[in-house]
Amino acid sequence: MIPSYLQQIPHGKEKGTFLALDLGGTNLRVCEVELLGNSKWTMRQQKYKVSEALKVGEVTDLFDYIAGSVDHFLTEIGTNATEDEKLHLGFTFSFPVLQTALAAGTLINWTKGFECKNAIGKDVVQLLQDALDRKHIHVRCSALVNDTCGTLMAAAYERGDCLCGGIFGTGTNGAYVEDLAKLTKMGYSKEDLEQSKAQGLDFMVVNTEWGAFDNERKVLPFTVFDSRVDRISINPRKQAYEKMISGMYLGEVTRNVLLHLVDSQVLFSGYSTKALNAHYGLDTALMSALEAPFVPNSTESADPVKHIRSVLTSSLGFDDARVTDADCIAAARVSEIVGTRGARFAACAVAATVRQTGGDQADADGREMVFGLDGSLVEFYPRFEQRVRDALVELLGEDVTKRVKIVLAKDGSGVGAALCAQAAQAME
Ligand code: ADP
Repeated sequence: MIPSYLQQIPHGKEKGTFLALDLGGTNLRVCEVELLGNSKWTMRQQKYKVSEALKVGEVTDLFDYIAGSVDHFLTEIGTNATEDEKLHLGFTFSFPVLQTALAAGTLINWTKGFECKNAIGKDVVQLLQDALDRKHIHVRCSALVNDTCGTLMAAAYERGDCLCGGIFGTGTNGAYVEDLAKLTKMGYSKEDLEQSKAQGLDFMVVNTEWGAFDNERKVLPFTVFDSRVDRISINPRKQAYEKMISGMYLGEVTRNVLLHLVDSQVLFSGYSTKALNAHYGLDTALMSALEAPFVPNSTESADPVKHIRSVLTSSLGFDDARVTDADCIAAARVSEIVGTRGARFAACAVAATVRQTGGDQADADGREMVFGLDGSLVEFYPRFEQRVRDALVELLGEDVTKRVKIVLAKDGSGVGAALCAQAAQAME
């Protein structure tokens, strides 16, 4: 787990204009967020392409390009801030960093096709600030933001409070609010803790990196299908929990189960297709399509077999004549089993957070626990929240589960990062 050094949670009354920068997705994104102070905000944003050459060149060239993009944004798109106001910026940098302060963290290694030279071990905030200063841009990078922390902040601003921000998209991870006294790895003395308490700073947001839970493979009930998915992944023996839950892998687990049933002569008369044979040939979005008929009152529920048959033939290349009605129902059921297992594991992270923060204790009666969640699974996968809630009832009981509020918290790397910059300014 990684301390974020974030010790302010918004309530919705925060105001001001902040910048947010997001590097690590498909594009570099620059946003200006205006917090209106009534749990609402407005945002202007612009995306900038990061060329393949920049991704593998000198790191100073990359950061000069980033600073140039901020400059372009401020001059071409404009800003609401006054001339002499120094704009605070929250930097979402979605690569592994060792965070050492709210506005400091060194790069551990690159991922996602980036391989810039002379970057590992450097402070990425300093790299950005130096590049901004070289161009005399009146902007201060005041927070280095993990996207889960941003998600937590965005949900807190909208809801007035938030216990945990979680992402269930390509990968999965979560951040939650922990008592400072429990963060033993920070090495705070009794005096430090007392002083923090006096200042109302007796908590900190912790980035759990829960996707890496049980990499040692001691707890989770792995199947042969999970082992196969892990073995051919780019990071074997890493992100064990994530590989049973998130969008990048659920389709791949489903594909492996279907292939097993094909090879056992149970499905599709023992025939597969090119798409089903290909690694990552079954996108998790296809699971949403296969299971759409199981959503009560959906248009697809009128004739489930017809709908599933069209998905199997159009997206997986099956020959209509080879697919029986029983194949259709079985294929959708496999998807439902894999997806439900994923949602039940996701519920374990929620339940663990509730227990760790004492939300299941008698003295917590009445306390509402907000989970701000983001990602395609939360947004699009049919009945994701319902499946999570059903598992929560088993894990925590009806009464505690009722106090768990799951809200969709979008754009942690935009408004969430801006809120981190605001928190940094408030903590100064
Ligand atoms: P990211 O996590 O990269 O920011 P997303 O939250 O959009 O982005 O997650 C992308 C992942 O979600 C992909 O792995 C994709 O397979 C999966 N996905 C996309 N659409 C759907 C859908 N309709 N149902 C289920 N999973 C989906």
